[in-house]
Amino acid sequence: MPLKYPLYRALEGSETLYRVEGRRHFSEWQPLGEDRWLVHAHFAEIYPSQVLIQALIEGEGAYGVLSSEEWQRRRQRRVSSDGDPSSGTSLPGSKIMEMKERVDLADWTTFGLSAQAAHWMTARSDDAVRFALDWSQENKADLLVMGGGSNMLLHRDWDGLALHVGMLGIRVLKEEGSRVEVVVGAGENWHQWVINALDNGWHGLENLALIPGQVGASPMQNIGAYGVELKDRFLWLEAIHVQTGALKRFDGAACAFGYRESVFKSAEKGNWIIVRVAFALDRNAPLQTSYGAIQQELKDLPEASWTHRDVANAVMRIRSAKLPDPEKLGNAGSFFKNPVLQADAFVKLQNTHPQVAHYPQPDGTIKIAAGWLIEKAGWKGMHRGTHGVHVHQALVLVHYGGATGAEIWQLAQDIMHDVFSKYGVQLEAEVNQIGRA
Ligand SMILES: Cc1cc2nc3c(=O)[nH]c(=O)nc-3n(C[C@H](O)[C@H](O)[C@H](O)COP(=O)(O)OP(=O)(O)OC[C@H]3O[C@@H](n4cnc5c(N)ncnc54)[C@H](O)[C@@H]3O)c2cc1C
Repeated sequence: MPLKYPLYRALEGSETLYRVEGRRHFSEWQPLGEDRWLVHAHFAEIYPSQVLIQALIEGEGAYGVLSSEEWQRRRQRRVSSDGDPSSGTSLPGSKIMEMKERVDLADWTTFGLSAQAAHWMTARSDDAVRFALDWSQENKADLLVMGGGSNMLLHRDWDGLALHVGMLGIRVLKEEGSRVEVVVGAGENWHQWVINALDNGWHGLENLALIPGQVGASPMQNIGAYGVELKDRFLWLEAIHVQTGALKRFDGAACAFGYRESVFKSAEKGNWIIVRVAFALDRNAPLQTSYGAIQQELKDLPEASWTHRDVANAVMRIRSAKLPDPEKLGNAGSFFKNPVLQADAFVKLQNTHPQVAHYPQPDGTIKIAAGWLIEKAGWKGMHRGTHGVHVHQALVLVHYGGATGAEIWQLAQDIMHDVFSKYGVQLEAEVNQIGRA
């Protein structure tokens, strides 16, 4: 009979506990002092840990089999201690239990729309995530996973648990020549991480500077900007299964990255909570300056002197000039994806609209600038009192104050219908719709 993970074990004659998450991964809870746990996540890739995990799976020798209930009971005798993102170690248990009631998500989302979450919790460890999952299952509370709230439109109050993923920490895993592998906690701020990498001379992410949000959400839609996507520097991520609590490592292929897409938005939607992301950076990474706007920004510097920091600064200047700052004007960045057309559909569109802004893709498809379509259809700067389309950037819907998610969604739909009727091109929302009727 196939084994159903996780498996619960205890080291006889001691307090040490184990949870086997799968064939190659287990977590170990070691007693620390009077009342704390030190928690380690192990990957059984080398000899001693392979032997240990085999013994744990079989529950042989000194490793006793526990029921899930007994294991939880023993674990709850202590709280977990601080740690780093690569070991899966936990922050103090008191934090694990901290839960708030009736939290206005306006403060946690860049659109700034008022919507009450019945329950709110910040999880700063794998264990805290599992606690929250257990709690939401026991209380039949729907789960809303929150990062920085910069890619979501809330349509209504959330009558369940809003779980903010807050694991912190940045740790070098390996350095080999100019290559550096670094793992980052899901709760780290994305832009701060990019700057931290730059400060350390770890290159490859500079074009993604100033994208709002947290590291844990970055693989969700394979964030991208100015010719670079997350997938270009992605090594692996670890995520906790929402139903079983099991931890799994996903490499790039398993994430099925595409244009603003990943397996976490399609086949595995809603199944995983990303807890840490590992990156492969390079001190000698080539500069990505193919975008005209970057070259324009750098034109006063001799090309031979361009540095990674120059590129990051150029990207930050371009973004600050072009995009509304969510601190000042509610928005979630590009509301729509750029549609990708097959060659024959593009030729038809170009015959009737020769000026259409487009970018040929390596696979022969053609990406159309959604902003161009929306602007030419007459929507740029459209004002509906509480909300509208940004005056300088037609792709961005904005919230002036007092709007509801449903009203902003109505505007989005009106734009989609109009663009379709004028150009025959179907736009698709990039922003995640939360609680849509
Ligand atoms: C001004 C502005 C500019 C932007 N520019 C860009 C850009 O250039 N390129 C780009 O790609 N995006 C851009 N975005 C969109 C957004 O910043 C990114 O998509 C970002 O990665 C979202 O991160 P977040 O932490 O805010 O995610 P959230 O909005 O909190 O969440 C997004 C989705 O991911 C889920 N989620 C969040 N964290 C986790 C987790 N740890 N595990 C599992 N699911 C999770 C949420 O449930 C939700 O469905 C922009 C947004 C703004 C406001």
